[in-house]
Amino acid sequence: MVTSPTPRRGFIKMIGQLSPRSVRGSAPTHRPLLLLWLLGRVAVGAPRLTTWRETRAAFEKLEAAYGNGATADSAQYPFWTLHATDALWEIKDADRIAPPPGRRRPTISVLDQVNPEAGFTPAVYAMLSGDPGLVANAAATLLARFFNPVPVGLVAAVGLDGVLPAGREADLILPIPGSVAFPKRTAIHAELGGQSAGGIGTLEDGLMCVFSNAKGPYDDRTIPGTDLIEYRGQGLSGDQTLKGGGNAQLLVCQQEQKPIRYWHQPAGGEWGFDTWTVIVDRRLVWGKGEDKQWRHEFAWVLAPVPSPFRDQWPQSVLERLAQDDQQTHDETFETEAPTAVTKQDAGRQYRKLCASVERKESLNHGRTTRTASDRYFRSADARIAVMLRAQGMCENPDCGGQPADVTDRGDAILEVDHVDERAAQGRDHPANMIALCPNCHAIKTRGSTSGPSRNLGRVTGPASDG
Ligand SMILES: [Zn+2]
Repeated sequence: MVTSPTPRRGFIKMIGQLSPRSVRGSAPTHRPLLLLWLLGRVAVGAPRLTTWRETRAAFEKLEAAYGNGATADSAQYPFWTLHATDALWEIKDADRIAPPPGRRRPTISVLDQVNPEAGFTPAVYAMLSGDPGLVANAAATLLARFFNPVPVGLVAAVGLDGVLPAGREADLILPIPGSVAFPKRTAIHAELGGQSAGGIGTLEDGLMCVFSNAKGPYDDRTIPGTDLIEYRGQGLSGDQTLKGGGNAQLLVCQQEQKPIRYWHQPAGGEWGFDTWTVIVDRRLVWGKGEDKQWRHEFAWVLAPVPSPFRDQWPQSVLERLAQDDQQTHDETFETEAPTAVTKQDAGRQYRKLCASVERKESLNHGRTTRTASDRYFRSADARIAVMLRAQGMCENPDCGGQPADVTDRGDAILEVDHVDERAAQGRDHPANMIALCPNCHAIKTRGSTSGPSRNLGRVTGPASDG
C-alpha cells in the first residue's frame, strides 16, 4: 500500500533530494543558497513572489560571500533548476524564458528582458508561513548538509536569524538523538523515509544514517577503552569493496567529514537514533559473511559528536579528523583468514594466530601506539584467536548459562575483552583475553572484583590443542 506523504513531508523530501553533483570534492551550493534565501523571505513575511532581477541581485551577493564557488554558474542556474528539476517553486511566464534548443537553462539576457516573477507555490508558501518550525527544520538541514561549519553571518544574511537562534541549529533537525524509538526498520521508514532495510543510507531529509542491530548481521560495537564505534561496512558475503552501495556513500562522508546519524537496536530492544557521528578512520579487517565464510570487511570508525554541526564538535574529534589520512588501514595484512572446519583446525589456527600476535609484538617493541583504537585493531588477530578458542561458548567458568540468542549468522553473541584492567594496559595476547556472553561481560564491566574476572586467568587453548 502506498500512502501519499503529507505536504510537510513532501517538502522535506524535496529538500532532501537536492543532491548537486560533487565538483572537486564539494557540492555546488547554488540551489541550497537560493533556498535558504527563499526560506528567509518566508520567515520575515516577505511576499510570495519575487522578480528575477531582485533574486539575481540578492543571490549574487550571497554567492560571493558564502558560496563555495564550485562552479562558475550564476543566478540563472538555481532560479531555473529549482523550478524545472526540483518543482519547489513556480516561475510565471516560464514558457517565455524556456531554454533555447540544446541548452539546459535560459540565457541571462532573456531573463533580464522578461524579468519573470517566481516563488514557492501558493500551497507551499501557505504551509511554510503557518509553520515556522518547518522553515527552521528545512533551513537547519540545508545548513548541515551544505554549509558545515556554518559561515559567520550567513543565517542573518538570509533573514533566518529569527527562526534559527545561534547555537540551537542542531535541535531544529528532527529527530533529535535519544528522542525516538521504533520497533522495526519499516516503522522508521514510514515516519522518516529513506530505506526500509539495509545498513547505510539517507533519511528523506538527505542526511546520512548508519543502522546497527545488536543481533547482526554485522559485528558493530563500541571499541573498548574509547567512545568510538566500529561499524562494519555493506556487503553480506564475499570481500567488501568501496565501489558502489553503502561503502561508497560512507567513503564520501569520510572524505567530506559529513555528519552521520547512528541508529542502534539493542538485543530485545527498539531502534533508537543514539547519536550523531563522524567517520575518523577506516580499516580492513577479517569478518564472517552471511555465508559463514571469512572475508575482508571494512570497519568504519565513528566518533560520536554532540551535533551535526562541525563548529560544535569537541577538540578531540577535530584532532582525530586532522590525523585521518583517508587511507584504508589493512589489518589483514600478513594474516590469513581464520578458516577452521574441525576442532583440530581450530587448535592449529589458534597457535598460528598466537604466533602472529607475538611476532607483531616484537615488531612493535618500543613503539607506543597512537590511540586505544589503534591498539584495538592491532589486536584483531588476538580477538579472532580467542573466538576460535571459545568455540561459541562463554569462557567464564562461572557463567550462569549464556543466552540462547544468536546472530543472524547463527553464531553465539560473544564479546572479547581483556581478563582484567591490568592486562588491558599490557599485552593484547589471547592468554590475557577472554570471550564472554553479554551477561558475563556486563557483570565484568561493572568492575566488581568479586566478578567473574577472578577465575578468568586460567584460559588456555581449544580442547584439541595438545
Ligand atoms: Zn557467560
